[in-house]
Amino acid sequence: MYIKFLGTCGGRFATIFQTRSTGGIYLKEEETRISLDPGPGALVRFHQEKIDPTLLNAVVVSHCHIDHANDAAILAETITKGSTRRNGVLIASPSVVNGYGGSAPIIPRYYLTKLDRVISVKAGDSCTVGNINITATPAQHTDRTTVGYIFNGKNGKIGYVSDSSYFPEMIEIYRDCRLLIICTTRPLNARIHHHICTEDAAELVAGVTPETAVLTHFGLKTLHEGTKKQARWIFDRTGIRTIAACDSMVIETKYGIHVDR
Ligand SMILES: [Zn+2]
Repeated sequence: MYIKFLGTCGGRFATIFQTRSTGGIYLKEEETRISLDPGPGALVRFHQEKIDPTLLNAVVVSHCHIDHANDAAILAETITKGSTRRNGVLIASPSVVNGYGGSAPIIPRYYLTKLDRVISVKAGDSCTVGNINITATPAQHTDRTTVGYIFNGKNGKIGYVSDSSYFPEMIEIYRDCRLLIICTTRPLNARIHHHICTEDAAELVAGVTPETAVLTHFGLKTLHEGTKKQARWIFDRTGIRTIAACDSMVIETKYGIHVDR
């Protein structure tokens, strides 16, 4: 699997000020191409990285918050070649597809009708896009329909822990993942509800014991405190390679896990 981090920040203020990009993650396994959690600017980031967004097969979204879902509609438009061809898959929490708490869905119905498949997932649901099997995992977030994901490709499983409070069952859920990508919004000594902080990420990494853990989706406070410091703290306590993602970073999982910053 080829994984490119189009954006590595999140949370209210890092997103508003674009302290880093918020383009989410691009996954590619042979000819299967996925956009994961395309926040604001994802379309621009695809073009900056010279990745053709019209070749995407699926947009996968964990929940309806704008730093994860803002560009899902425009990417649906690219997948359907400007709404001229029924094509592509949206896999997303019910809040993205149907709206949440009385608010409208984040993707207008017009674009949903142009896609080949729209799959509203809850934890435990699985589906396949090309060469990748995708399973939704549970999360505990203010959007109660939030899910994480496990992507199972040719070279093993990749876990994606989206916005959530930490809960011990996560360790079993992500147990077999070779690579664990964690939305670590908050730094050391700054835990808040409904988000993963550095201490939570360390507990998760220690329990799951992936080959490599990657921290991403940093909030403003984490960016100020230093992202590498958070990764180092986790490595020192777990002995597991932990990387703080940066924009444009590439990871390839083959026999080993290779990181190119
Ligand atoms: Zn959120």
